[in-house]
Amino acid sequence: MSLKIVLLKETRPHEKRVALVPVVAAKLMKLGAQILIQSGAGIAAGFADDAYGASVISADPHAIVADADIVLGVQPPELDLVAHIRRGTVLISFVHPQKEPGLVEALESRGITCFAMERVPRISRAQSMDALTSQAALAGYYAPLLGATQMPRILPMMTTAVGSLRPARVLVMGLGVAGLQALATARRLGAITEGYDVRPETREQAMSLGAKFVDTGIDARGEGGYARELTAEEKAQVESVVTRHIQQADMIVTTAALPGRPSPKLINAVQLAGMKRGSVIVDLAAEGGGNCEGTRPGETTVIGPVTILAPLNVPSMLPEHASELYSKNQLNLIELIVRNGNIVLDYDDEVIAKTALTRGDVSLLRDCAPAGGIRQMELQS
Ligand code: NAD
Repeated sequence: MSLKIVLLKETRPHEKRVALVPVVAAKLMKLGAQILIQSGAGIAAGFADDAYGASVISADPHAIVADADIVLGVQPPELDLVAHIRRGTVLISFVHPQKEPGLVEALESRGITCFAMERVPRISRAQSMDALTSQAALAGYYAPLLGATQMPRILPMMTTAVGSLRPARVLVMGLGVAGLQALATARRLGAITEGYDVRPETREQAMSLGAKFVDTGIDARGEGGYARELTAEEKAQVESVVTRHIQQADMIVTTAALPGRPSPKLINAVQLAGMKRGSVIVDLAAEGGGNCEGTRPGETTVIGPVTILAPLNVPSMLPEHASELYSKNQLNLIELIVRNGNIVLDYDDEVIAKTALTRGDVSLLRDCAPAGGIRQMELQS
C-alpha cells in the first residue's frame, strides 16, 4: 500500500500559499505516494485542482486526514480538524506554537508527530528545507516594490529634456536574508543603497550588493548566527550614527528580528519626525510588533512626514513563487523521513530531532500500522 500524503486547503485569513505545488505532487507520486487534495487547495496560488494530475480530490478534509500518513499545510490546521487526523500521522507545516494555544496539546493527545517548518535548524545540510529563509528572501525582494508605489518620487536617476531627477536613497536596517534581498531589489531599481546591521559580517554582504555599510562600531552577534539585544549604551551609540542616515533616506526597509522576542525598535518618534517629507518605511518586522515606533501591524499609517507600511505575511502576496519554494522545502524534508516508502523517524538526525515539535507516541504508531499499511519506526526517543 502506498504512502498517503494529504494536502490541506489553507483557512487562515490572507493566506494564499499552498503547501504542495503540482510539480512536487508529480514527483511524490513518482516516488510511489498517493496524493489526496482538499479541493481548491491551490486555487489562491494559481493552481487549479486538475493541475495536480492523478491526485485524489476531495471536498471533505475530515475524511482525507482520517486516512493520512502525512498531512501538509502552510499554516497549522485548525483545532477541530486536528481531532480528525489519524493517530500517528506526521503533520508538516509552520506552527509557531506560542500563537496557537492548545495546538501542541491537541497534537500530542492524537499522537501526531509534528514537524514545524520554523524549527528547521539553520545548518548547511538543512538549507534546502529552510522555509524561513525561502520565504524571507521573497519578502525582502518585495519590500522595496511595495514601498516604491507609496513614494511621490522615482527610485532611479532619470535624465529628461527638462533636467535630471536624482536617484532615491534607500536604507535597509537588518541585513539577514530579507534585508539583503531588499538591498538587491532597491539597487536593481536604481536607488542609492545603504545597509545597517549589528552583526559586523553583514558589512561585506551589503557591499557585495553595491550598498554602503553604515558602521556603528557595535558587534551584537548572538547565538546561532542571530543578533542579541543591545544594551542601553549600545542603543545610544547606534542612534548617534544612524539618525543622519534615517533622515537622508527616501525609503527605509526594516527587517530586524530577535529570536523569540519582540522586534527591536530601530526608529523612534524623534527620528521619524525628522525624516524627509514623502519618505516611506516598509516595516517587515511587523509580525513581531515592528521596528518602528508608530508601526501598526497590518496597516499603512501616515505619521508626520512619513508613510509607514507594516504588511503581514508578505510571502503570501507572491503566492505562486512562495508556494513553489515552500513546497520544495517540504519535499526535501519528506525525503529525509521517508525510506523505501516507510516513514522512518531517526531522532539521532539533528534535522529530524530539532524540527519535530511533537513526537508521535510509538505505541500509538504501532497500533495504527496495520490499518494504514505503513510502518513507522522511532529509532531513538
Ligand atoms: P532575522 O530575521 O533573525 O533578523 C534580521 C536581521 O536583523 C539580522 O541580520 C539581525 O542581525 C538584524 N538585527 C537584529 N537586531 C538588530 C538591531 N538592533 N539593529 C540592526 N539589526 C538588527 O535574521 P535571518 O534572516 O533569519 O538570519 C539570521 C542569521 O541566520 C544570519 O546570520 C543568517 O546568515 C543565518 N542564516 C543561516 C542559514 C543556514 O545556514 N542555513 C539560513 C538562513 C539564515
